[in-house]
Amino acid sequence: MRKEPYQFPQDEFFSRDHFNKIKKFSRGKETPFLIVDLEEIKKSYDYLIEHMPFAKIHYAVKANPMDEVVLALKKKGSNFDVATVYELNQLLRLGVEPERMSYGNTIKKEKDIAYAYEKGMRLFVSDSESDLKKLAKNAPGSKIFFRILTESDGADWPLSRKFGAHPDIIYKLILETKKLGLEPYGLSFHVGSQQRDIGQWDNAISKCKYLFQAVAEKGIHLKMINLGGGFPAKYQAKASDLETYFKEIRRFLLEDFGDKLPEIIIEPGRSMVANAGVIVSEVVMISRKARFNQYKWVYLDIGKFGGLIETLDECIKYPIFCDKKGCAEEVILAGPTCDSMDILYEHHKYSFPHTMKEGNKIYIFTTGAYTQSYSSVGFNGFPPLRSYLI
Ligand SMILES: *Cc1c(COP(=O)(O)O)cnc(C)c1O
Repeated sequence: MRKEPYQFPQDEFFSRDHFNKIKKFSRGKETPFLIVDLEEIKKSYDYLIEHMPFAKIHYAVKANPMDEVVLALKKKGSNFDVATVYELNQLLRLGVEPERMSYGNTIKKEKDIAYAYEKGMRLFVSDSESDLKKLAKNAPGSKIFFRILTESDGADWPLSRKFGAHPDIIYKLILETKKLGLEPYGLSFHVGSQQRDIGQWDNAISKCKYLFQAVAEKGIHLKMINLGGGFPAKYQAKASDLETYFKEIRRFLLEDFGDKLPEIIIEPGRSMVANAGVIVSEVVMISRKARFNQYKWVYLDIGKFGGLIETLDECIKYPIFCDKKGCAEEVILAGPTCDSMDILYEHHKYSFPHTMKEGNKIYIFTTGAYTQSYSSVGFNGFPPLRSYLI
């Protein structure tokens, strides 16, 4: 078998300058850790404003809830989508006004609705009769937007089934809203996270148009569409660039609503922060399970419980880089814990240089979203993922 040299498509994911900065910063620090580049996040925000100038941005806090990230976006003028009273409290602590927040979780306790209302929040999502009644009782007069069910086809990390309801249910809920003393305000959807099929927004926007018209016939005029998140970050499986997404989505909106465009909200999480993060990890062990096994096992000091849970079913394929030269060798990648599901990639094979040794550093790119906040508090005694800002 001919051996190819190890090559990593570096330019797609980072510049040499950026990498050298990461390398220098990492020296002498105990791995694993996440490095978040705040400037990159600010740039993502500006990019979004430039390409979707008419949209209000509600950053989905769960993607990366670090205080510094929230503060940087607050300063830029961002609004925020929160899912719990804990996120709400964090934002209040950081001085974000409640008028700049939406409560985007369809699953809420009554006391949490009452708390959010008491703190001044007035914009809530709903997708069920039960939740709507709780809102009526605990957040009277609030603006309600309704989440439509989507299929999540084409998304690498689906958010389907659990959230949203079919338009026929939503239609009924909208008609009830006024009677309950709430304001029927708009519609929302989430086409699935890391959605690589832009057409999914077209389908969802069409459903919105249909509902806008159907309830208008009953005298209810909705004012807002929330396009959700789902915009892609740069992983191994390619997606179109964000410019194309925004261009196409503007076109879908124009086709359906013409110059009567409702207020537009977007709730980016991943696309705002993922590209800004790099996890620095170390090879703990390299071994073979049997003499003639084709693949070596490479165990890192980070795994599913340390922040890489989105490798579940190998959904998200992070760009992973080893800064050594050698022949390319496909391996199986696993984490360090004593749980046998803590395997990162077994079917999709990652290549590394054959010279890679225990103790070498491994750089996992595009890890600014859904990593640190997903890391366990102490499984097997491993501390939660440390993070630094540069
Ligand atoms: C998680 C979430 C988002 C962010 O989605 P991304 O795909 O990370 O952009 C947006 N809206 C809601 C309601 C969410 O739950």
